[in-house]
Amino acid sequence: MSTSPMQMSEARRFQQLRGHLSYLKLNDAAEALNRVLDQARTERMSLTAALERLLEIEVEATEARRLAARLRFACLPEPWTLNDFDFAAQPGVDEKLIRDLATLRFLDDASNVLFVGPPGVGKTMLSVALGRAAVDAGHRVYFTTAAELAAKCHKAALEGRWKTCMRFCVGPKLLIIDELGYLPLPEDGASALFQVINQRYLKSSTILTTNVGIADWAGAFGDATVAAAMLDRLLHRAAVAGIDGPSYRLRNHQTQADTIRKGVNARVS
Ligand code: ADP
Ligand code: MG
Repeated sequence: MSTSPMQMSEARRFQQLRGHLSYLKLNDAAEALNRVLDQARTERMSLTAALERLLEIEVEATEARRLAARLRFACLPEPWTLNDFDFAAQPGVDEKLIRDLATLRFLDDASNVLFVGPPGVGKTMLSVALGRAAVDAGHRVYFTTAAELAAKCHKAALEGRWKTCMRFCVGPKLLIIDELGYLPLPEDGASALFQVINQRYLKSSTILTTNVGIADWAGAFGDATVAAAMLDRLLHRAAVAGIDGPSYRLRNHQTQADTIRKGVNARVS
């Protein structure tokens, strides 16, 4: 069977169109072109509908790639979302406040969030869940611990990369600094952290988790002036969520301990 000139030019045009899409790096559209054209023919789609279908495929693929890149960049330690958080198990958490934070309105006016409470009450989990919501909403997020951040800044200073390091720390729309106060900060750590907070002040939001009550920050930092200056910037516009509840980590141990205690008491009485 011979090919008509009409079919020849159609085939060439198809190859050219595919070539254009590839040249513009619209690879998912290029790959879907044949399928979409077939669909357009069989379903008698309008030209507009066919073009829309083709570009929709590319847009969806791009969105998925960007989301994956934001997630990689964010370095969230766990895949937690707010749905994983059991509010009933943690009466110390103000659910209304957390739900309000999850709307991400606090990012709009560069407000900060402080989670203060003892170990195991869900501070990291809530900050990761809010970070995840921000990533999903298209924001640049970066998760780190206070100790890690201090070490990163220290190394950068030694290697003459201080400015680059500060630019990196100021970049994300949301910076999460976990576990402030768990480990003693190195000598220049408190000052580095202050500079990060100060550079971000009024520009973008920071979530900070700590086991140290605000009244005790001066002691934890070993420098009352730096602690006061940091709190000043952090709290100027902030939601403070004190979580004063049971440790979720020790939940089972607590139940076991209660069972044993009840058993012993029953035998004694
Ligand atoms: P913190 O940072 O306050 O020490 P985490 O956020 O690390 O506590 O929580 C400790 C562990 O308990 C994690 O595995 C976390 O997923 C789980 N957890 C804590 N609170 C809850 C909760 N309310 N619902 C479900 N899991 C929780
Ligand atoms: Mg934690």
